[in-house]
Amino acid sequence: MTKPILILGGGPAGLAAAHSLATVGKKCVIVEKEDKLGGAPILSGYAKLVPTGEWAKDAIGGMVARVTDNAHVGIETGATVTSFDGNPGDFTAELSNGSKIEAEAAILCSGFTHFDSVNKPEWGFGTYEDVVTTTQVEQMISSGNGVRCPSDGRKPERVAILLCVGSRDRQIGREWCSKICCTVSSNLAMEIREELPDCHVYIYYMDIRTFGLYETKYYWRSQEEFKVKYIKARIAEVTSDGDKLIVKGEDTLVKRPITIPFDMVVHAIGMDPNVDNPTLAQTFGIDLEENGFVDVANRYGAMGETSRPGVFVAGAATGPETIDDSIAQGHGTAMAVLSSLKDFSKSA
Ligand SMILES: Cc1cc2nc3c(=O)[nH]c(=O)nc-3n(C[C@H](O)[C@H](O)[C@H](O)COP(=O)(O)OP(=O)(O)OC[C@H]3O[C@@H](n4cnc5c(N)ncnc54)[C@H](O)[C@@H]3O)c2cc1C
Ligand code: SF4
Repeated sequence: MTKPILILGGGPAGLAAAHSLATVGKKCVIVEKEDKLGGAPILSGYAKLVPTGEWAKDAIGGMVARVTDNAHVGIETGATVTSFDGNPGDFTAELSNGSKIEAEAAILCSGFTHFDSVNKPEWGFGTYEDVVTTTQVEQMISSGNGVRCPSDGRKPERVAILLCVGSRDRQIGREWCSKICCTVSSNLAMEIREELPDCHVYIYYMDIRTFGLYETKYYWRSQEEFKVKYIKARIAEVTSDGDKLIVKGEDTLVKRPITIPFDMVVHAIGMDPNVDNPTLAQTFGIDLEENGFVDVANRYGAMGETSRPGVFVAGAATGPETIDDSIAQGHGTAMAVLSSLKDFSKSA
């Protein structure tokens, strides 16, 4: 009897990989460290997704439902892999919950870690209650409670969204662009204006990277239809005058200092490598790339190969990725795993 494929992580990439494998009758086991599946969109309570506008709980919840109760998909939640030994076609994984899985191959779909804004203290997070992150605003919207200032529950009249928090910042060792936060921020700005039409929303940016088709749908629409204001600026600090939050910086278009008061400041946080990656690299015997994401060994031959034969990777584990690209990688890597197994069995 053939052994299953081990999938580490039950986010969009892992759910897609499991669905593809199950569809062609190949057994797999998802090992997820949290107590439920869905990855960042579910665990962090995202609201309406870019680009479809569907609620995360419906869109990703549907992907979870598709693999749950599927006879071809085993699910181990609240567990991770502690050792992974053997060769392609014949691996043994030990799990933190004491169980053992024999597997033909593994796909690492272990995703990313949200940037922790306390690592950017001069921008006020952790000091002022009304300095929040994009994930917190997503949660305010998805919970149905609406966008409110955490300090006293009032409706904000002026909101600033600061882009590139924890991305494109050499000073704190994060040079990469997190790819989706410009678009997510334009989307959130429109959602805030929709809920609070009297609230003024400003986006502070270095460059706007609403890539591809998102330029019209988010960047231009947010300005033309929703009157969101964009300021090209270098931000120095976020302070408080005791009443309002004060964002100080330089308008880099007119090259003048600007100081503007707000009720709420939102950090558009980036995507860090998964904090577990150094441990995962050791457990699975794979290489990480220079920033700490999982290194992809083969870009054009087979999807998602890592430095170790039989161990594959998909989604935001490889670097900042959107949900749809993570899903595409999950499906594509499942196919690469299946074709690699044919190669292994031929050479065995
Ligand atoms: C604020 C914010 C909003 C976003 N909104 C959007 C959006 O609207 N549209 C969009 O396209 N993208 C969005 N993104 C990006 C989106 O979050 C990612 O594209 C997506 O989550 C990547 O899916 P994934 O499955 O690769 O990883 P993840 O979603 O990170 O899932 C990884 C899974 O692996 C598990 N895991 C991690 N380590 C281990 C381990 N050691 N053992 C076992 N399990 C483990 C995790 O618990 C998690 O369940 C947003 C990102 C941010 C920061
Ligand atoms: S997507 Fe936009 S906000 Fe995010 S890191 Fe890139 S430029 Fe900055």
